[in-house]
Amino acid sequence: MWPNITERVANKTLLCPFCRYPLSFREDELHCDRGRCGFSSHVTDLIEAGLATARRVAPNGEALPAHTYACPSCGSPLSFREGYGTCEGCGFAAPRGLQFNLLERHHHDESR
Ligand SMILES: [Zn+2]
Ligand SMILES: [Zn+2]
Repeated sequence: MWPNITERVANKTLLCPFCRYPLSFREDELHCDRGRCGFSSHVTDLIEAGLATARRVAPNGEALPAHTYACPSCGSPLSFREGYGTCEGCGFAAPRGLQFNLLERHHHDESR
């Protein structure tokens, strides 16, 4: 269903877009244990699509600017323009809707 995500979750290399903690599955839902936040299947679809263009690069551990989402693939800042997100670190390309859905439909505990 989500082949890229499933593989990366198994390797602990899929990062929470809010806090960069490695994501896991709870039941069938993608989940950040640190932020106590589950991800909708729609957002999971969007992340899976974005991973199709992502190169494997070393994770970026530099501090994230405030109010910035992290690339789920490498942890670099995701920049959004007209709803589309891109990561300069690895080429992850977020389809339209990812930013909106993260902002409006998910509650992640504040700590990073
Ligand atoms: Zn998180
Ligand atoms: Zn990236």
